[in-house]
Amino acid sequence: MAENKIWLSTPHMGGNEQKYIQEAFDSNWIAPMGSNLTIFEQDLENYLGVGHVTVLNSGTAAIHLGLILLGVKSGDEVLCQSMTFSASANPILYLGAIPIFIDSEPETWNLCPVALETAIIDRIAKGKKPKVIIAVDLYGVPYKIEEIRILADRYSIPILEDSAEALGSCYKGHKCGTFGDISVLSFNGSKVITTSGGGAIITSSLALKKRALFLATQAREEAPHYQHVEIGYNYRMSNICAGIGRGQMEVLDSHIALRRKMHEFYLDVFKDIEGVTVFIVPDDNFFSNYWLTTVLIDPTKTVGITREKLRLLLAKSNIESRPLWKPMHLQPVFSEYSYYGNTVAEILFSNGLCLPSGSNLTAADRGRIKAVVLNLFSK
Ligand SMILES: *Cc1c(COP(=O)(O)O)cnc(C)c1O
Repeated sequence: MAENKIWLSTPHMGGNEQKYIQEAFDSNWIAPMGSNLTIFEQDLENYLGVGHVTVLNSGTAAIHLGLILLGVKSGDEVLCQSMTFSASANPILYLGAIPIFIDSEPETWNLCPVALETAIIDRIAKGKKPKVIIAVDLYGVPYKIEEIRILADRYSIPILEDSAEALGSCYKGHKCGTFGDISVLSFNGSKVITTSGGGAIITSSLALKKRALFLATQAREEAPHYQHVEIGYNYRMSNICAGIGRGQMEVLDSHIALRRKMHEFYLDVFKDIEGVTVFIVPDDNFFSNYWLTTVLIDPTKTVGITREKLRLLLAKSNIESRPLWKPMHLQPVFSEYSYYGNTVAEILFSNGLCLPSGSNLTAADRGRIKAVVLNLFSK
């Protein structure tokens, strides 16, 4: 069995990336400065439609700077979706702030408005109003944009939208990455597009973009010498990586269409299988890039077949799949922090599986995946 490995999600180049990298070499802007950066940012701004974009060396750096721009300081409390990748929450700790984790609701798997409001009221009653709400567009599906915004406005708490997985997703025709007071993208190797590693922070004003850029480039004051009155960071993207980003923007929409085809493929594969549900958006207001297709397997309805059984069988055929993100409130590193909600995130984690979803998977790859699934469930 020397069949190639099928991965969850791998980089998929469009073709022009190396040309833009060559431009950087030709002009000798092998630096965190240069025209690829300007053009990549412009391309992203055009794509998103609103907001000012600053590209950085990771999505995690973007979340860190976003929290700083929203005024988070040591000892502050930050509300954060529990069902997410740890990078949504780690920057809270970088700042010495305190994460308060919130359960998901079952329709989008993102922030539960009821648990969120309960948490806000309780934290205020305990004497501290939370500083920021971190809302995630998990697996490309927008969170309940309007419900969460109403709460944010009611209690005057800004939203940091973590759209790391949701470039190209929309709610009512508007792009994810534009709903937060500050929003964040990631271009890591596994995401919808990649710069090998990178991220972006999206701000509503040019003044905030300038502030993000200032902090991302060591907080150097304007002076002929090196003058600093604030702590800075080395978070700017390199002009080489931005060249990859330029090339990737040319194929973004066609690659999203291919990921959505993978999602349709799974809807078809699982259509007659009792107890397995492919995760889909709640209604037509939501448009997902379906970064990863995920399924829930309810072992009470599958005569005992669990997500772990499917995962191990796929692995045997050299096909990668993975449990959903393990909620942050169940992670040893965050065990001391408060959690508001029920067991929605926990159940998703127990029963959920992410399936190979890359835009570069072939018909042969799909055939191998389908064979494993049908073989398991037809028994
Ligand atoms: C990938 C990811 C990040 C972090 O982005 P990096 O570019 O890898 O630092 C943050 N949040 C979520 C939800 C992610 O999936």
